[in-house]
Amino acid sequence: MQKERVVIIGSGPAGLAAAIYTGRALLKPVVLTGVQLGGQISLTSEVENYPGLFNPEATPTGPEMVALMQRQAEHFGARLAYEEVTEVDFRNGPPFTVKTHGETYLAEAVIVTAGASPKHLDVPGETEFVGRGVSYCGTCDGFFFRGKDVVVVGGGDSALEESIFLTKFADQVTIVHRRDELRAGPTLQKRAFANEKIAFIWDTVLEEIVGNGVVQKVKLQNLKTGDVRDMAADGVFIFIGHYPNSKFLVGQVAMDEHGYVITDEFMRTSVPGVYAAGEIQDPHYRQIATSVGQGVAAAMQLERWLAAQE
Ligand code: NAP
Repeated sequence: MQKERVVIIGSGPAGLAAAIYTGRALLKPVVLTGVQLGGQISLTSEVENYPGLFNPEATPTGPEMVALMQRQAEHFGARLAYEEVTEVDFRNGPPFTVKTHGETYLAEAVIVTAGASPKHLDVPGETEFVGRGVSYCGTCDGFFFRGKDVVVVGGGDSALEESIFLTKFADQVTIVHRRDELRAGPTLQKRAFANEKIAFIWDTVLEEIVGNGVVQKVKLQNLKTGDVRDMAADGVFIFIGHYPNSKFLVGQVAMDEHGYVITDEFMRTSVPGVYAAGEIQDPHYRQIATSVGQGVAAAMQLERWLAAQE
């Protein structure tokens, strides 16, 4: 059993920002990183919209930003523990109990920043071919599709950004979108439309992924005509949104019907002393900058709350 002042669950931009601020407040936070240090940005290629870090000659990558934030957090006294949280007890605290596979922490205050994960399409063949043609991360797997034809599902910023990235490797990237209008912002739309390697199939859903050991084709249905057709593909990249990683919080803090943790404007959850920041409580903005801001706000509120308890 380890007694801590502050435990931060998650190590994405919200968690590391909270670690920097609670570290600078001399609270010696422990950051339980989860399986992916840095969270979703560690799977991002280029980050060009984070204020202050823009450099057109050398756009910073997600992993570079994670390394910088980690160094800053550790410099100010945060300790990163490479553990995944399995269970919490917030109802009988403080101190709050946070269990990982190998350790139990007792914390005076907690910031939950466990983030969100990519949604699955739930079509036949999807699970079967994960890692054998099906992917949720262009940055991670794009390299394996050099000279190949891939299908991307989705019409948001992620689908377009990742499609543009995938054209570095693939010969052809075909974006399959269920409507005839994209959700993505105008800048990415302009870039995607201008990219010769990117084609669009509108009003269409992917019904099945078919292959023999690896992905070979997809079955597509046009929602307007009802027509079903096969299309050859070596890979399928799915970018249709995210769900919050909040299973371990069920019954512990208030959540909305989609599992997002409910916070107020001070990043407080329904349990005094437990704060939440980043995508586990934010289905709206989901930017590195907004997650960082929420992590900072949670850290500042936590610091005030701890001081008021003394
Ligand atoms: P998103 O904006 O929610 O877009 C999801 C896309 O997937 C939508 O086009 C949606 O279609 C489609 N979709 C959802 N469920 C589907 C299903 N079952 N079958 C087929 N298509 C489905 O998600 P996102 O693109 O991951 O972006 C999330 C947030 O991160 C946004 O706020 C975005 O601005 C931000 N983001 C920003 C950047 C950047 O600024 N560079 C990069 C990545 C993400 P409909 O349009 O019909 O709903």
